[in-house]
Amino acid sequence: MDADHVPSEITEILISESRIQERLAEVAAQVDADYAGRDLLLVGVLKGATMVVADFMRHLRSHVTVDWMAVSSYGSGTQSSGVVRILKDLDTDLDGRNVLVIEDILDTGLTLSWLLRNLKSRGAESVEVFTLLRKPEALRIPVEPKYVGFDIPNVFVVGYGLDYAERYRNLRQVGVLDPRVYGG
Ligand code: 5GP
Repeated sequence: MDADHVPSEITEILISESRIQERLAEVAAQVDADYAGRDLLLVGVLKGATMVVADFMRHLRSHVTVDWMAVSSYGSGTQSSGVVRILKDLDTDLDGRNVLVIEDILDTGLTLSWLLRNLKSRGAESVEVFTLLRKPEALRIPVEPKYVGFDIPNVFVVGYGLDYAERYRNLRQVGVLDPRVYGG
């Protein structure tokens, strides 16, 4: 789906398809260099990171393995609360592994800081983060992602895996959702 298929719902395209792919290729080159000669396990956070993981791992030139976690951050509407529940755990033992957590978006960081504590307690050699998008609020938290795709303003975005009420994940671009859609 393209933003112009739902023109009354998306007020602005923030990041185009081609800019996403260019940036993923740049980050992949950096990750290839940083992890040269070491094993790497990608951990995608469902469901939002599906597109990022699928495209990003194809830009990598080294072998990697991939696993998925689903967590639910209790909260309503467009705010997260920091209370996290594991809906689907990893199939992989993390003992001695180099883990790169792949997130769609970092906002308050509440979800991610909980997730990192959880993963680090499982004996991983290293746990780093690649977030495709980062909002300004995230700069105030102690979680420092090693790789960031794009810094974006404090607006509610959808597309490229990110949803509102489970819709818009199949939008090719990252766009700003018209507040009228969520009653804002
Ligand atoms: P945090 O815990 O960092 O505040 O929020 C992380 C989660 O909140 C993301 O994984 C995502 O599910 C949701 N989130 C935060 N900001 C946005 C946004 O602008 N759009 C969408 N679709 N989800 C968001």
